[in-house]
Amino acid sequence: MKYKSYSATSFKHTPYYHKLSSQQQNEFNIVTKILHFKVNNYVLENLINWEDLENDPIYKLTFPQRGMVLDKDYQRLENRIEISAENSSIEMAALVARKNLYPPHMPTNDNHIQIDGLYHLFPKTLELFPTKASTCHSYCTYCHRWMPLVEQDARYTYSNDAKVIEYLQAHSEIEDVIFSGGDPMVMSASSIKKVVEPIIAFGQIKSIRFISKSLAWWPYRYTTDEDAQELLTYFDELTKRNIHVTFVAHFTHPKELQPQVVQQAIANILRSGVVIRCQGPIVKGINDDADILAELWKKQVQFGMVPYYLFVEFNYGPTGYFKIPIAKALEITQQAIRNSCGLVKTIRGPVISDKQMKLCIEGTVTIAGNKMFVLKCINSHQPENVGKIFFEKFDEFKLRLALDLIESV
Ligand code: SF4
Repeated sequence: MKYKSYSATSFKHTPYYHKLSSQQQNEFNIVTKILHFKVNNYVLENLINWEDLENDPIYKLTFPQRGMVLDKDYQRLENRIEISAENSSIEMAALVARKNLYPPHMPTNDNHIQIDGLYHLFPKTLELFPTKASTCHSYCTYCHRWMPLVEQDARYTYSNDAKVIEYLQAHSEIEDVIFSGGDPMVMSASSIKKVVEPIIAFGQIKSIRFISKSLAWWPYRYTTDEDAQELLTYFDELTKRNIHVTFVAHFTHPKELQPQVVQQAIANILRSGVVIRCQGPIVKGINDDADILAELWKKQVQFGMVPYYLFVEFNYGPTGYFKIPIAKALEITQQAIRNSCGLVKTIRGPVISDKQMKLCIEGTVTIAGNKMFVLKCINSHQPENVGKIFFEKFDEFKLRLALDLIESV
C-alpha cells in the first residue's frame, strides 16, 4: 500500500466523506476549521467501520467531534459560514475558538525546555523533538501537541545537532534519549540516522527510545515502505553497537492490532533486536472499559510487546470531551489488570505526568475515616522523590487531581 494522507479539504473528495450523515458532514466542516485533522488511506480503509460510525472507536480517535470545541465558538463559526461571511472573518472565528482550547504552550512544563526542541525533566533522560518529526501519519483527536504539530512553533523542535551535543556534553548525567514528535517514524531511514548518529557518536548515550504511533497508523513503515528494510537494518546495527533501542508504541484500542500487517510489522521490529513497550491514554468513549483495556494488553503480550504505561490526561482542556473522573479511571484500570494474566502486569497506571513528577495512582486507602487516593512517584526531576508515596483526598467525581499531595511519613 502506498501512503496517502488526507486533509479536511482532500478528504471531502474521497468516497468516505459520503458515508458521513449530512449532520456529520456539517460538523466535520466546521470543527476541522478549528482542530487539527489528518488521516491516511490505511486508517480509512482498514480501521474504521463506516457502517457504524457512532460507535466506532477509531472514527472518534481520528475525526474531531463537535463536543470537542466550546459551544459558543462552534455557533459563532457556524453563523459566519451560513451567512457566507468573508474568509478573513471565518478564519478569525476559528482562531479565537482554537485559542480558547489551546493555551499558548504545550501541556508539559516549559521550564524544562532548556533549548528549543530539548526537554529535560528527568535527570538521566533527554527528550528530543527533531523538526522533521513534527507531524504524524494520522492525527489523534485527543492530541494536545497542537503548537508544534500544526502551528509549527519553532520553540518546540530543533534542527541544529550541534546545540544538542553541546547540551549533552554539559550534562554528563544524561544517558538516555527519547526521540519524540509528532512522530519520529515519519522521517526517512536516512533522516533518522542523521539525527541519531551525532548523538550516540561520543559514547555517552546508552539507550534510545522512539515514541511512535506508526504501528497503529502506518504499519507499512516496517514492511513494504521503500526504506523499511534500511530502517530495520539500522535498528539491528544500533543494538549490535550495544545501544539499547526501545520502540515505545502508542496504542489506544485493540482494533489497531487486528490487521495482519500490524502483526508483521511488530515481528519485523522485534527481529531487529528492538524492545517494544506500549503506552497510551485512557479516554472516554474510546477505551474506558476494563474489557477493552484487558484485550489491548493481552494482544500486546501475545505479539511480543510489553505493556508499559496507561496515562490519564492531566488537563483535558476546557471542553473535557475525553474526560473520565480519576476514580473511574482507577476502577477501570484495576479491573482490567485483575482480569489479565501476570505478563500484563508490567502495565503501570493510571499514570499522571505532573510538572515535576510522574505519578502512578496505585489505589485508595482509608485513614482515620478519610478515603484517600494513594499515589507513587515513579519518576521525578528530583531523584529523592522517586518511590515516595503520596496521598490526596478521594473524590468520586474529580476530573483531575489537584496534586496538593500529602507525603507519607
Ligand atoms: S500520534 Fe501522538 S503526537 Fe501524533 S497526533 Fe497522535 S497523540 Fe499526537
